[in-house]
Amino acid sequence: MMNDAYGRKLHYLRVSVTDRCNLRCRYCMPEAGVTPFSHDDILSYSEIVRVVRVMATLGVDRVRLTGGEPLVRKGIEHLAAKIKEVSHIRFLGLTTNGVNLPEMASVLADAGVDGVNISIDTLDRRRYQEITRRDALPQALKGLNAALETPFSSVKVNCVLFPGSLPEDWLSVISLAKKYPVDVRLIEWMPMSGESIDNAATADEAFEKIEETYGTLKPARQSVGAGPARYWLAPDFIGRIGIIHAMSHNFCSECNRLRLSATGNLKLCLFYDIGIALKPMLRGGASDDQLVETILEAIKHKPKQHAGRPMAMEEGGICSAIEHVDGMHKIGG
Ligand code: SAM
Ligand code: SF4
Repeated sequence: MMNDAYGRKLHYLRVSVTDRCNLRCRYCMPEAGVTPFSHDDILSYSEIVRVVRVMATLGVDRVRLTGGEPLVRKGIEHLAAKIKEVSHIRFLGLTTNGVNLPEMASVLADAGVDGVNISIDTLDRRRYQEITRRDALPQALKGLNAALETPFSSVKVNCVLFPGSLPEDWLSVISLAKKYPVDVRLIEWMPMSGESIDNAATADEAFEKIEETYGTLKPARQSVGAGPARYWLAPDFIGRIGIIHAMSHNFCSECNRLRLSATGNLKLCLFYDIGIALKPMLRGGASDDQLVETILEAIKHKPKQHAGRPMAMEEGGICSAIEHVDGMHKIGG
């Protein structure tokens, strides 16, 4: 079991498989994209599976594939299938912008992916193009439809309250839960480069606007142990509305996550540039026992909570500075 210094049981691993993406969301990626890591820089699928296998022996039972955009890495379904073969992995999720889902949804389900979260920040095609710098809303919505026709155990839509997002953007996305059996989750924006959050709507402000627009929200069935969303039901809705107070009431005390970057850094907290570089161990002949020992030592340094901004490195014990995360494309949210 992986219990950190504050008694939190860490059993959820988010794996970023690439830093590349086919969109350029303004709040996540620079317009020119990122200088892509070379093939050698990023972990191979067999290296990722090995980390998952070792971490499963320590209690990890949920894995989520993310990016960048996970569906732009070739053969992602083979990685998914291998991860699902690892004993103790009960749930494999994938977070995607949905653009490649029309072709990929059934392939992913066949490979054993249990659920997909699709990121859509507006239902207005022009606004979507402004936000993502690509005219891809019809394709993302096709992706959502494809996911709904596939037997995933869960299909969710993520929508971020980034500075510059308009109430009509997120209210339109919320309406998907009226039409479809999907949970739509509004997520407070996190300033990964230390930007001000003053221009971003808080979850509480969004909650009020949702009630004004769709009627009084009633607490819905909550998903146990899976994440920080609190769920609500609006009159006549078939899907739930999830609200994630990432910043205004942080949920660090319930944090059960570790993150593996595409380059093989095990990151302990989104806001701290500390962690452990597993790639040199994986490529340097380390045994599984050595990996276990290193991971158990590293998690002792998982910070108690974030301060809502990137924190200076706090090097401690075997943890050292790892790549600076200045955009969510580097670590996958
Ligand atoms: N490309 C995939 C996608 O967009 O779903 C997976 C990676 S993306 C980084 C994962 C999630 O992080 C998306 O829902 C995205 O909207 C969200 N995200 C990106 N930057 C964020 C930020 N600064 N604060 C909160 N969420 C953010
Ligand atoms: Fe790409 Fe996802 Fe970042 Fe948008 S949020 S640029 S889709 S990685």
